[in-house]
Amino acid sequence: MPALDTILQQKLQQLDEQKARRSPIASLRGKKAQVEKAKNALISFACNDYLGLSQHPDVVANAKEAIEKYGAGAGASRLITGNNEQYDELEGLLAKHKKTDAACVFGSGYLANLGIIPALAGKKDVIFADKLSHACLLDGAKLSSATLLRFAHNDLEHLANLLKTNRHKYDKCLFLSEAIFSMDGDRAPINELAQMAKENDGSLMIDHAHSLFADEEFPDDIIHMGTLSKAIGSYGGYVCGSQILIDYIKTTARSLIYSTALPPATLAASIAALRIIEADKNLCEIPLNHARYFTKLLDLPQAQSAIVPVVFGSNEKVLQAAKILEEKGFWVSSIRPPTVPENTARLRITFSAAHDKSQIEQLAAIIKSEGWL
Ligand SMILES: *Cc1c(COP(=O)(O)O)cnc(C)c1O
Repeated sequence: MPALDTILQQKLQQLDEQKARRSPIASLRGKKAQVEKAKNALISFACNDYLGLSQHPDVVANAKEAIEKYGAGAGASRLITGNNEQYDELEGLLAKHKKTDAACVFGSGYLANLGIIPALAGKKDVIFADKLSHACLLDGAKLSSATLLRFAHNDLEHLANLLKTNRHKYDKCLFLSEAIFSMDGDRAPINELAQMAKENDGSLMIDHAHSLFADEEFPDDIIHMGTLSKAIGSYGGYVCGSQILIDYIKTTARSLIYSTALPPATLAASIAALRIIEADKNLCEIPLNHARYFTKLLDLPQAQSAIVPVVFGSNEKVLQAAKILEEKGFWVSSIRPPTVPENTARLRITFSAAHDKSQIEQLAAIIKSEGWL
């Protein structure tokens, strides 16, 4: 066996012993939150397709039309020949939604953070990031070569202390946090963070990956980024901000410049999804209402988003729980370290407009009868 394989095999064995090994499982998604896993028909409480738009007939039809009109692939990066005319419309819709001057669409949310953060912060700068920030915010910060300081989750006092002792040592200052934390479902204090950024001559960027595209008011001058692959049901990432910021990102963000543009059908799907949301704002309320119905059924603290965690602690216990749910017809994802802190392995339950009430009641009943709370 090659030397590298020998080393990697040992590492895989270690992961197996810790019940920490992960591997993709083939799955077929259908309408109404159905998903087939190894020929088992399950109801998914694991997707981020919060509005069910990935399966919406208008979204699918627009994508089909675009593939007929433009072909399957973009052919080059956006700065070469890949900048399909649909980008303008999509960026216009995103800027309008976030009430900013302009927007820029990236290949994915991950690529957006890897591109935006190094464009905005460098060696002489400092980044303050919430401890629970998503891996790609932290990866973007590392790639920027700015000094990265992490404050305890949603702890403004800790952030204030870090600012007091460190801010003066650096030039620019960037704050990073998430509108809705992906593994906990709670929210960042955006108004307070924006105020602190202003007072410290800094900027705040909020990651909206798990936002539901409902109408929300945000403080001026903050940078919004997010993904088109969750509530929008398609694929791609975006950033919204001032015209100057967007112009600068379009000419400097390496993950935009050195990566091929999105396929035209993907852009068309995102556009159709945003039009549906504009025409039916009630749609965006449904996942949160479903999550609140679930937390009410189980006497849990009221859900703040479409994500509700049930923390078990040990990897083994959470895998066992996920297996029991699967046997009863539900797919709920078990999330383990390093995605979440050590000893906080959990079921991460996500609610979608595609669910109906009886599915939520059945899931709650199982959790109650298993005594997991
Ligand atoms: C999923 C996610 C991303 C990445 O978005 P993709 O489009 O899936 O690459 C970024 N930030 C957060 C908080 C996420 O949950």
